[in-house]
Amino acid sequence: MQYISTRGTAPVLTFEQAMLTGLARDGGLYLPETIPMMSADDIRALGGLSYEEAAFRIMRPYIGATFTDTAFQDIIARAYAGFGHAARAPLVQLDSNHHLLELFHGPTLAFKDFAMQLIGQLFQAALARSGDRVTIVGATSGDTGSAAIEAFRGLDAVDVFILYPHGRVSEVQRRQMTTPVESNVHALAIDGHFDDAQARVKDMFNDFAFRDGVRLAGVNSINWARVLAQVVYYFTSAVSLGAPDRAVSFTVPTGNFGDIFAGYIAKRMGLPIDRLVVATNHNDILHRCLSGGEYRPDGVIPSISPSMDIQVSSNFERALFYAYNQDGAAVAQLMDELKAGGFSVSQGALQALREAFDSGRCGEDETSATIGRTLKATGELLCPHTAVGVHVAEKMRQRGVPMITLATAHPAKFPDAVEAATGVRPPLPPRMADLYDRPERVTRIGNDLAAIESLIRERIAN
Ligand SMILES: *Cc1c(COP(=O)(O)O)cnc(C)c1O
Repeated sequence: MQYISTRGTAPVLTFEQAMLTGLARDGGLYLPETIPMMSADDIRALGGLSYEEAAFRIMRPYIGATFTDTAFQDIIARAYAGFGHAARAPLVQLDSNHHLLELFHGPTLAFKDFAMQLIGQLFQAALARSGDRVTIVGATSGDTGSAAIEAFRGLDAVDVFILYPHGRVSEVQRRQMTTPVESNVHALAIDGHFDDAQARVKDMFNDFAFRDGVRLAGVNSINWARVLAQVVYYFTSAVSLGAPDRAVSFTVPTGNFGDIFAGYIAKRMGLPIDRLVVATNHNDILHRCLSGGEYRPDGVIPSISPSMDIQVSSNFERALFYAYNQDGAAVAQLMDELKAGGFSVSQGALQALREAFDSGRCGEDETSATIGRTLKATGELLCPHTAVGVHVAEKMRQRGVPMITLATAHPAKFPDAVEAATGVRPPLPPRMADLYDRPERVTRIGNDLAAIESLIRERIAN
């Protein structure tokens, strides 16, 4: 299996190289050259398997020769051992035909753990073999950073630097990043928005002298291995509800488009998914683009679902690549236009996007109302991101097709918003109850590439 860039001019890589690299050298994102298919029988055979065994069968064709079967099984086993639920990704019923896929039983209580715990084990196995050391740099709106730090803390061959927007992450998110004591963990609070943090990370990858000098590796949602890890729970949940003999739909609370793009891959692999619904908060650039074809960022407005406060949705580039019939030059052109303010999707590509995705938006009041209403109707407490999904899903549901909404974080990760909506303050699970008592360690830094790069050079020299 080989990996190609969405912009068409970067070197073709193996799975291991694409994973260790993250962003392609032409600025693009890696995708498999072809998408492996699973037959109806292959999918049916996933029924009743453990999450780990299903994960192995679904991901194996993408790994190529990077790991042997036993090595890869071992990596998967270690990745999910720290989850607080035996099913890893259990389904909970909300209504006759609406289900929640709980993706928050990992160590940092958000779905990002599914990908990050796997990538931590993949990196460790690859670097142990080669004897190399890497510097991991990531930008976070809150959940990616905590998940990355949790996955890489204490690993010998890795330093991990996480940039988060100062003052714009929840206290639980911040503490999950600032309280690990391991010396290879570096939390950086940047003065700016998530999009600024993400732009500086992209700049570092495009500064080849720096990139090669510190052996930069990326674990943001642009990393193909993360998308791949997320493909698994689309299969396991759909199979629980009758796939491949019955189609299901998914609604996905969306920011950087990584999670829903994994659903798109699952569909292309042969999983019978009827609709894939993008749910956004009031930062609704994706909903506007899928509705009208214009992609023009116009500033982030903070919301109670901060992990979706995004205007430059990096994985959308992968969807554009397929919508433009894998024309890397066309994608590169759009991304140049984006730098100058925005782009218009061509008619043909817009039609292709709309065949693949529906979309909806949920404002702040609707988010709170959904949390309150769902608690009354079902006894379930939703995190605000999940509530955005549930609100949109309720509008998009069709008779006869089960709807699965992805529950992307535990309510205790966003206790203020949940308490404001319901009067109930969700407690942290017992295994992390002392989070508020641990000392914090963080470096505040300006939105300045040179300053960030020199800090990283200094820290890894010590
Ligand atoms: C990251 C995140 C999202 C958005 O996922 P994307 O893959 O960026 O679209 C939604 N909800 C929560 C809780 C998240 O952490």
